[in-house]
Amino acid sequence: MSIDCIVAGAGIWGCTVARRLAESGRRVLVLEKRPVVGGNVRCEIDEETGIEIHSYGSHIFHTHIPEVWEFVNRFIKFNGYQHKVLANYEGRIYYLPLGLALINKFFGVELKPGEVADFMADEAHSKAIFDAFFRGYTSKQWGKPPEEIDDSIIKRVPVRSNYDVNYFNDYNQGIPLTGYNSLFERLLDHPNIEVRCNAAVELDGATLKLSGEALPAVPTYYSGPIDALFGYRFGHLPWRTLRFETEKLDVKDYQGTSVVNYTEASVPYTRIHEFKHYHPEDAAVMNSPKTIIMREYSATWRPGDEPYYPVDNTESRELLAKYQAEAAKVPNLTVGGRLGGYKYYDMDKSIESALNLAL
Ligand SMILES: Cc1cc2nc3c(=O)[nH]c(=O)nc-3n(C[C@H](O)[C@H](O)[C@H](O)COP(=O)(O)OP(=O)(O)OC[C@H]3O[C@@H](n4cnc5c(N)ncnc54)[C@H](O)[C@@H]3O)c2cc1C
Repeated sequence: MSIDCIVAGAGIWGCTVARRLAESGRRVLVLEKRPVVGGNVRCEIDEETGIEIHSYGSHIFHTHIPEVWEFVNRFIKFNGYQHKVLANYEGRIYYLPLGLALINKFFGVELKPGEVADFMADEAHSKAIFDAFFRGYTSKQWGKPPEEIDDSIIKRVPVRSNYDVNYFNDYNQGIPLTGYNSLFERLLDHPNIEVRCNAAVELDGATLKLSGEALPAVPTYYSGPIDALFGYRFGHLPWRTLRFETEKLDVKDYQGTSVVNYTEASVPYTRIHEFKHYHPEDAAVMNSPKTIIMREYSATWRPGDEPYYPVDNTESRELLAKYQAEAAKVPNLTVGGRLGGYKYYDMDKSIESALNLAL
């Protein structure tokens, strides 16, 4: 097929851009570096148990943006799963986020909603909560000694003065009933879209290339790492990476919920995911005598590692600005998504940014 546009990178941002282009009548070539589409939202189904494993860590779809909710619901239906996160501190389990359930259990009190603000204004209380639930966890996540984690963070942590233990405030939430991979298959299922995997786009001067061959000079939407596109000529943008340890266990239910955060610095992992809990509607999965858990470890990113969380500081902002200035000089090129924008986006924000692009 002759093409009008190229989308390089088939994560949720690239697939949304490709779909919009195709629906506006343009013929789109989607080039994806990995063997499969879906980017970091990609899942894998365990054949024995039918459990959907989120290969890059738990992904819960949640949004308050009507256009995004409407857009994704054209392609998939959600199961209504509502996300809750528990915290394990010294072997005891608490409900996050910071609200009445956590505060009352931790301090052994029975506060009423109207009493929470005054109670938490007492520095001894807020410090005790911070030390138990935030200091160790934040130090593991950002690779800093706990002593260097500033107590002022606690002032920015929202406190709920009720028993709402829903982790997200968004009223639209869920996991695709047919799995995340089906979202990508359906987004890309259009006569104007051709997809090629194992196809990493490179930039040579101002020319985009695939396997050394120049690509047609058409509008191109790139969502790979912006520094990689320019051969890291100014240096690497810093990231935090994650390492996952997946285990299949001969128990029906390991922790009774999908995510438990381990908040102490002495526990090497940050959280344990148990994926079967994301599909409570699937009796076969829930009744399987086995379960699959994944321990998540956070680490400093090194070249070759998968980038997960951008490290926002003065140096990284300056470096990003240099790469953005270079990208602006390349004709026909739009850079976006989490890797292109060097920005943490939830899935809905990634889709929103793709829906808002002037195409
Ligand atoms: C640990 C973790 C948990 C998260 N949990 C949630 C959650 O619960 N809910 C939520 O809403 N969001 C969550 N997110 C955010 C979510 O992962 C992102 O919003 C989403 O992945 C962004 O999609 P993207 O298309 O921008 O990037 P990606 O998914 O990274 O896609 C980019 C694609 O570009 C490809 N690519 C790279 N270079 C090239 C190249 N040169 N040529 C061609 N292709 C290339 C890559 O292989 C990849 O497939 C989480 C993120 C992390 C890190």
